[in-house]
Amino acid sequence: MILFENVSKEYEKGKPVVSNINLEIKDGEFFVFIGPSGSGKTTTLKMINRLISLTSGFIRIDGKPISDYNLQELRWNIGYVLQQIALFPNMTVEENITIVPEMKKWSKDDMKNRVTELLESVGLEPEAYRNRKTSELSGGEQQRIGVIRALAANPDIILMDEPFSALDPISKRNLQKDVAKLQKKLNKTIVFVTHDMQEALALGDRICLMNNGKIEQIGTPDEIQKHPKNDFVRNFLQMGISELKETPTIQQLIETGQLELSEIEDSESYLTSEDTIDALVVVLAKEEFVVIKESNGQKIGKITKQQLLNYLAHEIQREQESVVV
Ligand code: ADP
Repeated sequence: MILFENVSKEYEKGKPVVSNINLEIKDGEFFVFIGPSGSGKTTTLKMINRLISLTSGFIRIDGKPISDYNLQELRWNIGYVLQQIALFPNMTVEENITIVPEMKKWSKDDMKNRVTELLESVGLEPEAYRNRKTSELSGGEQQRIGVIRALAANPDIILMDEPFSALDPISKRNLQKDVAKLQKKLNKTIVFVTHDMQEALALGDRICLMNNGKIEQIGTPDEIQKHPKNDFVRNFLQMGISELKETPTIQQLIETGQLELSEIEDSESYLTSEDTIDALVVVLAKEEFVVIKESNGQKIGKITKQQLLNYLAHEIQREQESVVV
């Protein structure tokens, strides 16, 4: 468990960028910090592994203040993934992944097996990838290696700072799915920073919305969406959803035959045909189907999880074909 007690940070005296934060991140939780640029998300994240020092307050991991841990031990036991992954370009995939295990003096066999297991977990064929130089990999592949490198020495906690924001939408969606699956399987605590509301809603067990170094609301995606605490939260949610201009709307996908509607069934969850595919992904991550309404409120059909998956599978295939061409 990670506990923040009255945590503040001032880079300049008298100007707090994180003000008196109190929160608890549970073991095995996927905890997301979201908020506008400059709201203090990265500072908060980096205080956990002491990349940034606290001005006042305490952060405890399993009850012990982080200042009482040996720094090297603390860092080795907390995985860290950044937007610009710092893979070593002249080293192979395997060498990159095993840096911390090497320092921890794992045996050669244990390291080899770990690399096999990790590459498989993100859909990369171990024998085809382990000896490749990381500079030869695509951005999406490099980011996958960045993620599994953070997992390599089996840390209980992984910090992720906008890890997918430099990726194209398809790689991003795939990697989001992989990370969500891995986290559930391995039961890791993930602390994740993003400015992307869709990503926060899709991945977070709980979301902490920050503004000016303070917490506006902490809650599950459902709580935040159904009961936004104030206008800031409400506006941030709306902005997050409407920012997805470049992604197609449900209506466009229906008109172009890429998505089909099936017959209406009663449900509490619905979207309008002007909502985007990303909104559909968020809703169908939790529901088996969603009812689609026109903007005048008339129900026109439903879309099931299976239909969405078919569409996404096609989209991925198309993307791969366009790369080959
Ligand atoms: P976010 O991750 O939400 O964008 P940050 O935690 O990066 O926010 O930054 C919060 C505030 O602290 C910003 O106003 C930023 O300019 C300031 N800040 C961040 N790092 C430093 C630093 N090393 N020195 C001085 N000010 C900083």
